[in-house]
Amino acid sequence: MTADERSGCLTQIMRVLGLKSAPEKKVESVVTSSEVTYPYHLRDNFLSKAELYFYHVLVKAVGDDKVICPKVLLRDVLYVSDKKNNMDAFYRISQKHLDFIVCDSRSMDPLLAIELDDASHQQIGRNSSDEIKNNALESAGLPLLRIKAARGYDVTELRAKLTTTWLAPKQIALVTIADENNLTTAPSCPKCGSKMVLRTATQGERKGEPFYGCSTYPQCRGIVHITTAVK
Ligand SMILES: [Zn+2]
Repeated sequence: MTADERSGCLTQIMRVLGLKSAPEKKVESVVTSSEVTYPYHLRDNFLSKAELYFYHVLVKAVGDDKVICPKVLLRDVLYVSDKKNNMDAFYRISQKHLDFIVCDSRSMDPLLAIELDDASHQQIGRNSSDEIKNNALESAGLPLLRIKAARGYDVTELRAKLTTTWLAPKQIALVTIADENNLTTAPSCPKCGSKMVLRTATQGERKGEPFYGCSTYPQCRGIVHITTAVK
């Protein structure tokens, strides 16, 4: 019985009972579970042959304390500050993915992104996508290695390239303030430029001490330690 037939029956019963039916409301079509289809199939090519071959070389090159994630959506790694006003920037990256990211195995913090550039990178239309990825990652401060797909790779050479990339020193900003009771002027986040809020460290060697944390935490864990000039 359709919704229309049901409402027809109800109108008849109400007419018999001498009741007026409420003004007819437009019935929205309801999708029942039997109408939902699941035409999904498991891909046999989650990674292409070239990607799979490179992946095995990469496993040897990164070492045990790193984890490799293949095919990661850029929006899983990057976020857009002030999303309301930056929707264009969000949509520019929302459907793009990175071939691999290498993470620290304990924290799963991304250390670098890797793009395996095959012959298709010579084709028209490919470069703008590459450019967006290059610029987006650069602005977010995640190093990107572009590796030309090859028949063979030198593991030692690849390891050296990776190591120099993720060992680049990370900057920790320090603000010096004369009066530690006057903490009203919050700095901007050194990582993403968002507003910062005053917090107190709950653990570590600075436990109990105030610091500025990014207001977008946990998306951004940017911090600014506060060093007092006069104690
Ligand atoms: Zn931040």
